[in-house]
Amino acid sequence: MKPISKTGVKVRFVTDKPEALVEKIKAEGEQTPADILMTVDAGNLWHASQAGLFQTVDSEILQKAIPENFRDSNNEWFGFSQRARTIVYSTERVKASDLSTYENLGDSKWKNRVCLRTSKKVYNQSLVAMLIAKHGVEKTEAFVKSLVSNLATDPFSNDTKTMEAILAGQCDVALVNTYYFGRMQKDEPDMALKLFWPNQNTQADQLAGVHVNISGAGVLKYAKHSETAKHFMNWMAGIDAQSILAQGNMEYPVVNGAQNDPLVASWGTFKADTQSLTKAGELQAEAVKLMDRAGYR
Ligand code: FE
Repeated sequence: MKPISKTGVKVRFVTDKPEALVEKIKAEGEQTPADILMTVDAGNLWHASQAGLFQTVDSEILQKAIPENFRDSNNEWFGFSQRARTIVYSTERVKASDLSTYENLGDSKWKNRVCLRTSKKVYNQSLVAMLIAKHGVEKTEAFVKSLVSNLATDPFSNDTKTMEAILAGQCDVALVNTYYFGRMQKDEPDMALKLFWPNQNTQADQLAGVHVNISGAGVLKYAKHSETAKHFMNWMAGIDAQSILAQGNMEYPVVNGAQNDPLVASWGTFKADTQSLTKAGELQAEAVKLMDRAGYR
C-alpha cells in the first residue's frame, strides 16, 4: 500500500498484461475488488469499454484537462500519458534529411532497410488503425504491403530488439515507442540511433503529424469506491501527478504545464496527429485483417 500524501487515499494495485486484467475483471463481475483499470493503448481501453467494464465519469476537471482525442466520447476512459510511435534511425547509415513521413518508408529506397515489431502487438494495430482512419483501407493496405516488401528481416517480438537490430547493422530504420528509445538511451547515451518526427509538414494525403497513443484509465462499473476512484482520476490529471507519471515512464504528459523527463525534452517537440484515439479501437479488427492480407506477420 502506498499512501498518497495529498489526499490520504490508499492505493492498492495488481499488475498484469491488459488482456489478462480485462479477463480477470470480467470473471470477477460484481465481486471485483478493483475500482480502476489502468492500462496502455487506446485500443485496449476501447476493448474494456466494449466489454462493458467501465462506468461513465462525469468530471469537468478531466474534460477540461485532457484533450478530446485522448478520451472516450462517452467519458468511460481517459488518457493520462502520451507516447509517440515514431521513426528511429541509424545515425551511421541514414541522414535525417533522407526521412520525411511514415508513408515514405514504403518507398523502394528503403528496400531491405526496414525493421518492424510484430503485427500482433496492439501498438502496430493502433498505428495501422489510425492510418485507415486517415487514408481508408485500400490506400493503407498498399502502404503496409510496400512497408513489408522493404523489410530487412522477420518482425521482432519487441521494440528494444528492433532497435538492437539497427545497432547490429541488420536494418537502418524502424518504428518504436519513444519510451523504449528513452530507456535504451539512458543506458547508452552515445548509441548510434536517433528519433525522427515524421509527417511534420504534410500534404492532405498524409497522416497529419506523429502517431501518438496513450496510457489511460477508467472507473469500473462494479467499483466499490466509485467516488474515491473519481477523485483519484481527477488527481491523475493534475500537474503533480502528470509530471510524476511522465517522468517515471519517460512518456509525455497529456496536460499542459507538466514537466517532461530531461532526456525526453532533449528529443525536441513535434506536431502530433490529432485524430480521436477511439478510432484505434473501432478500426482495430479491420487493421488486423489488413496486416494479415499485406503479409505483415
Ligand atoms: Fe510498451
